[in-house]
Amino acid sequence: MHTEKLITTDPPINTLIDTHCHLDFPQFDEDREGVIARAHSAGIMKMVSIGCHVEAAEKAIEIANTHEGISAAIGIHPCDISEKFPEEFKVIKELAHEKKVVAIGETGLDFFREENPSKMAQFDAFEKHSELAKEHEKPVIVHLRDATKEAKEFFTAHHDFSFVTHCFLGDWDFAKSIFDLGGMISFTGIVTFKNADQDLLDVAKRAPIDRIMVETDSPFLAPVPNRGKRCEPAFTADTARFLAELRGEDFQFFAKETTKNAERFFGI
Ligand SMILES: [Zn+2]
Repeated sequence: MHTEKLITTDPPINTLIDTHCHLDFPQFDEDREGVIARAHSAGIMKMVSIGCHVEAAEKAIEIANTHEGISAAIGIHPCDISEKFPEEFKVIKELAHEKKVVAIGETGLDFFREENPSKMAQFDAFEKHSELAKEHEKPVIVHLRDATKEAKEFFTAHHDFSFVTHCFLGDWDFAKSIFDLGGMISFTGIVTFKNADQDLLDVAKRAPIDRIMVETDSPFLAPVPNRGKRCEPAFTADTARFLAELRGEDFQFFAKETTKNAERFFGI
């Protein structure tokens, strides 16, 4: 006898979180709602949208306030520190009281370009952001570029706050020092690139599952197969799939675990 087959689908993937995207960027002005809808269709039900300067922070909060599942993080990016920083940081401090703000940042150290803000100004801003995060019992989103040694020193001196090194780039030695201080690391689409650094892949393989998260850093760093295009939160799934395979883990397991981490870390 022919029996009607029950309609079954794979377990829903609705367990992935894009822990770092910039939905406020003008690249999304034309189709922001479509971008968010596509993320939902791809199983990315929660997103943390990062506002990196005052206006961006206000916009990130507005987006979070008008969309279920979207939270905001706010701060002044280390590359955007100017003589206006004291004024701007006052506004960030006010905005930190907003209900949907779940983290402070991105802040951190970026010594990539010579014309970047001075090291002293960056250290000072990093410290102020960390203090603000502690005050609100929120984690810090840390941006680092060409500053491994300095970051290690900073974390060692001020590790009494919860932090993630976003868009992690570095070797196992650096990753381990972050884990030893209780920090998390998160991976972008860079891990999927054909020319991805072996040290980075080594970290992605060895990192304990309870210390890692996934992010897009949209609109930048689109993972393969969309490398070079505008990145959007829906692509979180491509990076997660790649990482699960690299680690020899079941994708659903990887998605569930990294989602648990993000929920715990951000309190979302
Ligand atoms: Zn970012």
